[in-house]
Amino acid sequence: MTSNEIRQTFLDFFASKGHTIVPSAPMVVKNDPTLMFTNAGMNQFKDWFLGNEPAKYNRVADSQKCLRVSGKHNDLEEVGHDTYHHTMFEMLGNWSFGDYFKKEAIQWGWELLTEVFKLDKNRLYATVFEGSESDGVPMDEEARQEWMKYLPESHIILGNKHDNFWEMGDTGPCGPCSEIHIDLRSDEERAKVDGVTLVNQGHHLVIEIWNLVFMQFNRKANGSLEPLPAKHVDTGMGFERLCMALQGKQSNYDTDVFTGMIDAIAALSGKKYEPDNEIGVAMRVIADHIRAISFSIADGQLPSNVKAGYVIRRILRRAVRYGYTFLDFKEPFLCRLVPNLVAQMGDAFPELRKQNELIVRVIKEEEEAFLRTLDKGIKLMDNIMAKAAGTKKISGVDAFTLYDTYGFPIDLSELIARENGYTIDLDAFNVELEKQKQRARNATAIEAGDWMSVGKDAVTEFVGYDTMATDVNIVRYRTVKVKNKEQIQLVFDKTPFYGEMGGEVGDSGWICAGDEKIAILNTIKENGLPIHIAERLPSDLRATFKAQVDTERRICIQNNHSATHLLHAALRKVLGTHVEQKGSFVGPESFRFDFSHYEKMSHEQINEVERLVNKMIRANAPLQEYRDVPIEEARGMGAMALFGEKYGNSVRVIKFGDSIELCGGCHAPATGSIGYFRIISESAIAAGVRRIEATTGLRAEIMVDNMEETISAIREMCNNAPDLLAAVRKTVESNESYRKAMEAVQQERAINIKNSVKATAQTVDGVSVMTLRACLSMELARNVAFLLHGETTASVFIAAFESEDNKPCLVLMYSDDLVAKGKDAGKDIREAAKLIQGGGGGQKFLATAGGKNVDGLSEATEILLKLATGK
Ligand code: ATP
Ligand code: MG
Repeated sequence: MTSNEIRQTFLDFFASKGHTIVPSAPMVVKNDPTLMFTNAGMNQFKDWFLGNEPAKYNRVADSQKCLRVSGKHNDLEEVGHDTYHHTMFEMLGNWSFGDYFKKEAIQWGWELLTEVFKLDKNRLYATVFEGSESDGVPMDEEARQEWMKYLPESHIILGNKHDNFWEMGDTGPCGPCSEIHIDLRSDEERAKVDGVTLVNQGHHLVIEIWNLVFMQFNRKANGSLEPLPAKHVDTGMGFERLCMALQGKQSNYDTDVFTGMIDAIAALSGKKYEPDNEIGVAMRVIADHIRAISFSIADGQLPSNVKAGYVIRRILRRAVRYGYTFLDFKEPFLCRLVPNLVAQMGDAFPELRKQNELIVRVIKEEEEAFLRTLDKGIKLMDNIMAKAAGTKKISGVDAFTLYDTYGFPIDLSELIARENGYTIDLDAFNVELEKQKQRARNATAIEAGDWMSVGKDAVTEFVGYDTMATDVNIVRYRTVKVKNKEQIQLVFDKTPFYGEMGGEVGDSGWICAGDEKIAILNTIKENGLPIHIAERLPSDLRATFKAQVDTERRICIQNNHSATHLLHAALRKVLGTHVEQKGSFVGPESFRFDFSHYEKMSHEQINEVERLVNKMIRANAPLQEYRDVPIEEARGMGAMALFGEKYGNSVRVIKFGDSIELCGGCHAPATGSIGYFRIISESAIAAGVRRIEATTGLRAEIMVDNMEETISAIREMCNNAPDLLAAVRKTVESNESYRKAMEAVQQERAINIKNSVKATAQTVDGVSVMTLRACLSMELARNVAFLLHGETTASVFIAAFESEDNKPCLVLMYSDDLVAKGKDAGKDIREAAKLIQGGGGGQKFLATAGGKNVDGLSEATEILLKLATGK
């Protein structure tokens, strides 16, 4: 079976068992402070598990793109070195939300693997949770009994909390799990060593392929467990590992998922793939990483210096580094592999094909920048080694500086060190690394208390699209410590406050009951739940509160948000339909809009875009809002699919005239209320991605007012000239002619001074010594020196004077014949400059110095005379 057939067989099997098949959620997670990337199939169903949102289906199955390179699941360092961990991989999963439980989950898992896929039963093992005394949870007898129906007891293994109890995070839904492992060794090997002893021992051919999690508890902040009202099943099977088992291979990289890319890398590098040496490791790293990088970019996450962007940058640099070191790639090469990836996966993942050009450009630019860093790092490494030539030991601090400040990876430092017979103090390096991690942890430490229920728990109804004020009741609250500051968080039964999401900032406002008025400082969204950050806890939690959004602020936000849609439409008209949104930030004062485009916008294009948007504003197109539209229908309406949205089965469509977008944000009732639109700036933020900052309404007016004020001030300076532009131009031009006239006068002056200096020359040992003790400026003195240099031989000129702005100045000139005999004005003047507390330099024939201490001038002159004449 090909990998595509394997995937389809999995989905068909669970569809036949009553599961709804859903698409993969984006791999890049937006709007979730606890997660940067999807790391398990269950992520997109978090809200259903937490009960923040009712489950849309009882049974679901899918193939989910996952990335495990940060946070709780981080396999990055394994990838390439082993043959079965990837950064990005597909996780096949089936779910039950309060429907079937252990019996069916195990039965169907077994049926699929052994009857449909026909895997050898003798090679399969199952693990079962052994129980935990500290948590008061007994052994998972129910799961064990189910497995006994299919497997001999010798193939059922008890596992501890670490392997067999799955938790979403520090708190939240959790439960025992049962993993299915497979032994892919040869019969000969299996006869020698019993597979059961190798399960969970890190053997590359005895590996976990499927994990069945039985969610039945909720972990509270104090660490205790309480049973969940509804029990769920959450399973995850590694697609690439399944392919390896079914295609009879011993490495994920030998399956058809990867062979095409490995061949391409081999061809590009001119080296042969050999699984067991460094070249093999490097090719696996690259074959793996190119997928993670390309899919992230297609999902809207570009490499950058912060957060998720930094994670992607690190993956990319890891790939470049392996290619650079082991495959001799000294020029960008990853970008040249993208077409291969697109050819292979573009059908299953159309976003790759659509973003092909952007992916290539971004990767190329990143590679170029990193290759420069590598060169620089190698030079720094040389310096560090020179410094440590005595001991041949590189300190942990030096290695850390290379790593942290210059992005120079530690294993590369180690490699270079080793090649040169040096060692790196890795323990000290790790101490530095740990210190840095601790600093980062302290900076983001958040301690959340348990939610306390008030009255009946309910799913929050958001009414903020239709009203900014309503009566609300508190359903839960908690205190959260953020960087040691306490914060009160409230959840209401319904709310008019928009929770920060999709680039739009959260609402603020008030809640009032009786005499009590409490400010709502911000509204955020966590796992789909709108959370209100309150100034303090209300005295009566059970009161009914009047909730009021800060209307003025919200109207500004709405206007800005609607303006981003108009801007998007205008950009596509003016620049072309390759323009796609890459990100946005919508606040009350201004907004940012990031989009794909490959060059700077011209002045005319910016004007044209502004004009188009303002025209749409004046057309006063009413907001047409369609809620709960099935996604296919929305596409049919021509809605632009924004990246990073988690597509449920229905979406909200926002239409203004011919701008149609999928959007969950707040909008103006009609474009007219935006009032006026102005672009503040247009700039590049990454290869192929531009950013426009703009503003609307009052802010746009103020921006224009400010420009006008500047112009009035200029007009006043020009004596209210009727033609301002002509007046300014004339001033600039006459300024230029004055400057030229001034230069001529200065030259005249220099000639006069030169003549008088020459007339007073004294001869010492055949050298004519000329001095100048008063002058207006350094520039003038230099000119004199130049003239003398051109006219005299066997001569020295020394100028030492106080300039018009009271600074001590020195100028020293040696004629060429003296320079030929070894005189060096630059060197001599630095000596003398010390006496005026200054510094200087120049060439051998002419040098200047300035300083702070005027009183030192005479002594400095003495020194110069001495140096010049040797007396
Ligand atoms: P392992 O112990 O092998 O790292 P895990 O315990 O981290 O696996 P789970 O979190 O249970 O795995 O994920 C479910 C399934 O996803 C695993 O059984 C495995 O088949 C697959 N899987 C997990 N991590 C990776 C990875 N980095 N690359 C490819 N497949 C993976
Ligand atoms: Mg793992």
